[in-house]
Amino acid sequence: MDTFPGFNPSRVTGLPSLRPEIASLPAYVPGTRAEEDDTAALASNESHFNPLPSVLHSVFSAGSTINRYPDAASSSLRDKLAEQLGTTSKEVTVGPGSLGVLNQIITAFCRPGDEVIFPWRSFEAYPLVVHLAGASSIPVPLRPDEGHDLESMLAAITDKTRVIIICTPNNPTGVPVPHAELEDFLGRVRSDILVVVDEAYVEYATAVDTPDTLALYQRHPNVCLLRTFSKAYGLAGLRIGYAVAAAEISEGLRKAALPFSVSAVAQQAAFASLDARSEMRARVQAVVSERERILPALRAAGFNIPDSQGNFLWLRCTDEKREELLSAFGAAGILVRGYARDGIRITLADAKANDRVLTILTKQESSQIRN
Ligand SMILES: *Cc1c(COP(=O)(O)O)cnc(C)c1O
Repeated sequence: MDTFPGFNPSRVTGLPSLRPEIASLPAYVPGTRAEEDDTAALASNESHFNPLPSVLHSVFSAGSTINRYPDAASSSLRDKLAEQLGTTSKEVTVGPGSLGVLNQIITAFCRPGDEVIFPWRSFEAYPLVVHLAGASSIPVPLRPDEGHDLESMLAAITDKTRVIIICTPNNPTGVPVPHAELEDFLGRVRSDILVVVDEAYVEYATAVDTPDTLALYQRHPNVCLLRTFSKAYGLAGLRIGYAVAAAEISEGLRKAALPFSVSAVAQQAAFASLDARSEMRARVQAVVSERERILPALRAAGFNIPDSQGNFLWLRCTDEKREELLSAFGAAGILVRGYARDGIRITLADAKANDRVLTILTKQESSQIRN
């Protein structure tokens, strides 16, 4: 599949040789960072809101303890998460971002030769963590309507399949997996395969058929939920996320972590964030309202955009159109994320930034650049 990043082996001579898995890796390309004040940073799906005062306060107070190691087990945070989720703390694993937790999952389950199935296009980091473990990525193309092709994902299962990743709502398309489809899928996956449901954007999902993943987890012990404080909670810079999985699995995930990888500052900020859920929900609602304003406006301007359940919109387009749109955005001081051969992802922010996006795209419409 030509839209999938292949990793080419290379050789370094005269020096201690890197593992081939490492030598062949391209560096991770993060979304461009804003350097100027009037730049609209819409490339990384971050929250555009400033940290909440109560959360900042917890960061400052935890700052006075940084000469000490953090609680390696993140006990208070796990207790609090378990209480809110209706699980036990034994089922909760906290790690350095949900990406850190995913790395623990792949490390705990995959050996060289094992296979990990995931949708594609999806989160850039999936092939990276799989490759680092020496395991094999099995990317399954999305359906033409941008949804997960669950039938083809089932058909891709082999004796070597150890993990399947579902991303709902999917990054970068924003398209969710409906509850009934996920339920049917879980009923058909072998119980010795771990199904990771990455819900990085779950707080933004408002559709009635949004999967009740905690209920599905209760019925399918091979399900592992992956969530983060980076997006709706606005703690991307602190690196903290968590998984919910059966107690025996969670114990293994915690063993696969580097000790002390989650700082006390991150733990306390996450704890304070859980106490501020109503403020978080109000912020999410503001983004959802913007999504409901911008998406129809772009469709009316001729763009074919799938219904997004995340804090971002997806414009599938040809490389030529992508380049033209990216340069128009760049000239206007707007950072968005381009994906070779696939399209452009635009993070939603406040009305002012979103209006700038709308202006650029509706102008493009008159010059015939459409997807
Ligand atoms: C942003 C994102 C994550 C990673 O979040 P961190 O918790 O910051 O590591 C995981 N999955 C998806 C799909 C994402 O978009």
